[in-house]
Amino acid sequence: MQQIEAYKKEIEALPVTDAKSLEEYRIKYLGTKGIVKALMAEMKNVANDQKKAFGQVMNEFKQFTEAKYENWKDIAGNGAASAVADIDTSLPGDPLPLGSRHPISLMRNKMIEIFSRLGFAVADGPEIEDDFHNFTALNLPEHHPARDMQDTFYVQQNPDWLLRTHTSNVQIREMEKGKLPLRIVMPGRVYRNETVSARSHCFFHQIEGLYIDENVSFADLKQTLYFFVQEMYGKNIKVRFRPSYFPFTEPSAEMDIECQICHGAGCSICKRTGWLEILGCGMVHPNVLTNCNIDPNKYTGFAFGMGIERPTLLKYGINDIRLFSENDVRFLRQFTSAV
Ligand SMILES: [Zn+2]
Repeated sequence: MQQIEAYKKEIEALPVTDAKSLEEYRIKYLGTKGIVKALMAEMKNVANDQKKAFGQVMNEFKQFTEAKYENWKDIAGNGAASAVADIDTSLPGDPLPLGSRHPISLMRNKMIEIFSRLGFAVADGPEIEDDFHNFTALNLPEHHPARDMQDTFYVQQNPDWLLRTHTSNVQIREMEKGKLPLRIVMPGRVYRNETVSARSHCFFHQIEGLYIDENVSFADLKQTLYFFVQEMYGKNIKVRFRPSYFPFTEPSAEMDIECQICHGAGCSICKRTGWLEILGCGMVHPNVLTNCNIDPNKYTGFAFGMGIERPTLLKYGINDIRLFSENDVRFLRQFTSAV
């Protein structure tokens, strides 16, 4: 009983002010291995004639410790509440770290936005492709010399599978669906077995376009691309078409714009020509239409394709293509407010 009195004094002197000290108190006195339980267990050692008196004191002590706990719980709870009330919500908050769009995404989105104004929808397709959709259907049969320029990576389990060398596989897959007319752009990642350097990489990005309908002509192709370059590079941009060769288009052309660095005078970026090659294009080859079960006597179409990396390098003055895929935040953070 003297011991209980001592505990009471000890409890009265306790500095319980917060949740931590309150919990320490609860464990010490009210826990399953706490003092109250231990004293209750002493009951069996008390002589019979004193059991009643001890029981009374014991009960009082139990109620005392529990009441203290409830009381302190309120105080500790209020303390937490008043801490919240002390926060001045009119102060400016801590800024959240803001991410940034990747420069390739910025350029791709800009390109998509321009073509979407001409009614082009976005189409997507697999990056792991079979030989037919990447080469054969595009008038690039096996042993065609143009395949050498598009060496890529093959999947070991199935030699028919490869990493696509262009987004043209999406053109084939969309044409195969047989829903005409078609007016789509296809942005995406492509792969080539190239030595990685400041100027070339084993993967990069392209955007291609395809328009198939009755009576689509080369004039439509030129008008579409003129609109694109004017929106992209300014109304007064000088443009030229050069005849070219691609297996999947006939006739084929490459489109150059006046060098944006030297404005035609000649510099190292444009190899002293004053022109920058930006895209390849042409009228879809009748063989390609036939491969996709489209009647070339009824339908015609044009297609074009361009890389996204090079215009991005030029626009932001970046001198190494490898920076795009190194995930260096010091590089990426520079585009936080870029559009
Ligand atoms: Zn130049």
